[in-house]
Amino acid sequence: MTNPCILCVAITGSLPTKANNPAVPISISEQIESTQEAFEAGASIAHCHVRDDAGAPSSDPERFARLMEGLKTHCPGLIIQLSTGGRSGAGRTRGGMLPLAPDMASLSVGSNNFPTRVYENPPDLVDWLASEMLTYAVKPEIEAFDLSHIVQAATMQRDGRLKGPLYVQFVMGVKNAMPADEPILDFYIETLKRLAPDAQWCAAGIGAAQVTVNEWAIRKGGHTRTGMEDNVRLDRDRLAPSNAALVRRAADLCTQYARPVATWQQARQILGLAMPAV
Ligand SMILES: [Zn+2]
Repeated sequence: MTNPCILCVAITGSLPTKANNPAVPISISEQIESTQEAFEAGASIAHCHVRDDAGAPSSDPERFARLMEGLKTHCPGLIIQLSTGGRSGAGRTRGGMLPLAPDMASLSVGSNNFPTRVYENPPDLVDWLASEMLTYAVKPEIEAFDLSHIVQAATMQRDGRLKGPLYVQFVMGVKNAMPADEPILDFYIETLKRLAPDAQWCAAGIGAAQVTVNEWAIRKGGHTRTGMEDNVRLDRDRLAPSNAALVRRAADLCTQYARPVATWQQARQILGLAMPAV
């Protein structure tokens, strides 16, 4: 029995700019083109933020709708995951795109520090975002920046605020939060399996830790995330030429560890998502 590895590509995020790397897709047309190339390279989930015309993070549902429409046309079958995390402090506007009913949305269930600020996720907002996801049948991807977020997600599943098997993303290497540390990742996995035995997990590393965490996740049987939201470089000397190049790097690691890269059909099956007719 093979264990396919789901590759998620986080295409844009809320921070990287063209000054960091000219290949970061900012406009919706750039995002669609970059995602299509990453999808063809093996990504089956696209984690998406949108920007306004000045390149600043936005949660404008109209922009998300245009991005979703383009991705459905150009990447049939791709799992579309919209971020509800990109504008800390913006309150419920962070979830204004959930009525679009994307396949998935990111959900942070607790607060922590980011490089220059607090990433605010107060309990009432977390509960509201989770309830909106239930209303619109959007599968959450839990973003775990800290051990307490894993425990909280399991608690929310137990009391019915979250339904179905959890899908948890361990994010490591954010400055002022959890570092990319292998024994910590092992404890995250062990804790998740203990508290939510039916859960699936994914892991992402920030900056230079991206490829390291990709390798750990693939080797340990999890799924993994790459893309320019988390890292804009191939290595110390080279910028990543595209999101697809980062996906290919993760796909190569899958080959190295005899993990097939999940097709979008396999990824949908693993995550319990509907199969669209394409
Ligand atoms: Zn994001």
